[in-house]
Amino acid sequence: MTKNAFEQYKARILEAAKMLDLRPEEAAALETPDRVLEKTLSVKIGEKTLEYPAYRVQFSNARGPYKGGIRFHPEADLDEVKSLAAMMAIKCAVVNIPMGGGKGGITFDPKKHTKEEIHALSRAWVAAFHDFLGPDTDVPAPDVYTNAEIMGVMLDEYEKRAGKNAPATFTGKPLSLGGIAGRDTATAMGAVFILEAFVKQKKWEPKNLRVAIHGFGNAGATMAILLHERGYRIVGVADSKGSLIDGDGLDPDALEKLKQEGKSLVDAPGKTRGKPEDVLTMDADILVPAALDGVITKDVVENFKAKLMVELANGPTTDEADSLLEKKNVPVIPDVLANAGGVTVSYFEWMQNRKGENIAREKVNEMLREHMEKAWEEVSRFASEHATTYRIAAFSLAASRILEAKRDRGLTF
Ligand code: GLU
Repeated sequence: MTKNAFEQYKARILEAAKMLDLRPEEAAALETPDRVLEKTLSVKIGEKTLEYPAYRVQFSNARGPYKGGIRFHPEADLDEVKSLAAMMAIKCAVVNIPMGGGKGGITFDPKKHTKEEIHALSRAWVAAFHDFLGPDTDVPAPDVYTNAEIMGVMLDEYEKRAGKNAPATFTGKPLSLGGIAGRDTATAMGAVFILEAFVKQKKWEPKNLRVAIHGFGNAGATMAILLHERGYRIVGVADSKGSLIDGDGLDPDALEKLKQEGKSLVDAPGKTRGKPEDVLTMDADILVPAALDGVITKDVVENFKAKLMVELANGPTTDEADSLLEKKNVPVIPDVLANAGGVTVSYFEWMQNRKGENIAREKVNEMLREHMEKAWEEVSRFASEHATTYRIAAFSLAASRILEAKRDRGLTF
């Protein structure tokens, strides 16, 4: 995340507050987390003792239980986790699901640890915070460098401590433990639904649209494959090692296979290779930042060629870059809308666990499409009625929904 990520969040709330004519106390209520939990995990494996800081920030449960992922990353600190927790509250309100916002993390590099160590730390995270978790309390999910496997281990630890089955405590689980079909593709699928609605509104033709994707993890690779299937031309992709560019179009399925074999995109035969950041300013119509935060800087925007940006990653754009994009009239579909498909399908998973049901993949995707199209319609209508960006529109809509829930609880500011 960018430096002072929480400051960036507050700046966006300030813009929404101006738009909605909020009183300072109302804006302050959107900037104050309900609870910040912080512990040092200590795990002994053989001779080795691992000690790492861990967090859970419960930002707001005004609209429903706290909801949001857990990330394992060497740079995950409290400021980052807090801002991501706040963004989850906004995200859930944008797509209008009955969930609040939370986020968790452990500051460590899972790439430098064995599976046994990672599992032990996952259990230690649950041991530290289990009193504050539960289907009606706080429902974590995967995030950067965590996945279904980790959710399975965490659920097991939680259930052992609770002495009962409680699958709705975690989402993004393996199918065998109550996970939902389509959760793995949900983030990219949600973005595709929003992009399709945008393209339709603009009367653009998918076959004439060239897409560059920065980041080829689960979300980026799935987005490339889904867009390729729908006739878009994928002209550039990048992973942490480098980029691959081809104006005639790349085959994302073949590239995904390469990644599965543990290779990098730069190992693909016969294409133009460069630095990862080359795709950010390449000649393309749509740019999808799908990896790190803070990659879209002012310098990048000065050399920008795309006519639309879709933020699949959380927080990819700095404030300065955001203002410049607005000046240059480049529309941005913001993270809190573009990548909300993940948490939306998490909500379906939570719902299916509570009902003891299994929702079929086709039904999941149909429900996701409905939710995303409705959110797009509301955000784009707000943006055009108030002559503002999609980002400010999304923040304003979400802020008004969270405040409405607080007022309906009889809370005064
Ligand atoms: N970590 C994902 C996000 O940033 C998903 C959260 C969830 O499913 O609860 O939206």
